[in-house]
Amino acid sequence: MKKIISVLIISILIFSCKTEKKEVKKENPIKLHVFSGGKIVVNKLQYFAQDSMTYKGQTKTFADAFYVIQHPKGNLMWDAGLPENLVGKEPFSDGAFTVSRKDSVKNQLKSIGLKVADFKYIAISHSHFDHVGHANQFADVTWLVQENEHKYITNDIAKEKNTEVYNMIKDLKKPQFLNGDFDVFGDGTVVIKYAPGHTVGHQTLYLNIGLEKPVVLIGDLYHFEENRIHKRVPIFNHNKEKTLKSMETIEAFAKEKGAEIIIQHSPKDFEKLQKMIAKKN
Ligand SMILES: [Zn+2]
Repeated sequence: MKKIISVLIISILIFSCKTEKKEVKKENPIKLHVFSGGKIVVNKLQYFAQDSMTYKGQTKTFADAFYVIQHPKGNLMWDAGLPENLVGKEPFSDGAFTVSRKDSVKNQLKSIGLKVADFKYIAISHSHFDHVGHANQFADVTWLVQENEHKYITNDIAKEKNTEVYNMIKDLKKPQFLNGDFDVFGDGTVVIKYAPGHTVGHQTLYLNIGLEKPVVLIGDLYHFEENRIHKRVPIFNHNKEKTLKSMETIEAFAKEKGAEIIIQHSPKDFEKLQKMIAKKN
């Protein structure tokens, strides 16, 4: 009898261990992938502060990441890298920036078994040339965009004066207008956080998806570490005061959530996030 009971107990233990393991897996079904959307060498770093002296004579290399979030309710593309017409060409320079891109989004998605048609959403932190590179290919995908940003980039003045960027988003047929924060899948795991200032409707992305810590993909609220430490605002930002306010809001939010801020243009943070993802898998 004793034997039977101990066998029973052991089997119950094994069974409960197994179900526990299964449950842990079930808790984190959301996957994050980070890809390179190119590289930017900033030849004139002085543009990244309000005065022309702080970074005078300095240069810096930026990563240009884009991200794929696979959620059971759909896939989201966050940002779209540099223009794809750079792929296979020598780096292009306009003096201030030297830009290059090694691979197309289609090829990169293939490496995780996805194609453009598998996406439900695309969201872009803001409409600058280094974030909208492959956006047009997502023409039939719902574009999560702040209403003010959409107006700013699609009005007649933008079409004429900001033609390059306008042309990179003009094929997107399904905008869904946002006015502030937006919980993409309604479960608090993937949340767009409004952070205006760099552009009129700039946004960041909070992810609570079972990494060792939640993260905030910062868009261009900060381009590199020193600007985060010293709260420096680039000279070309749409609005300095709004940028500073957004820095305050997002920092407070990240602190409250225990979230790590990931600077999208930082090569160091690109690697850091890759390591966090590898640890989870
Ligand atoms: Zn940027």
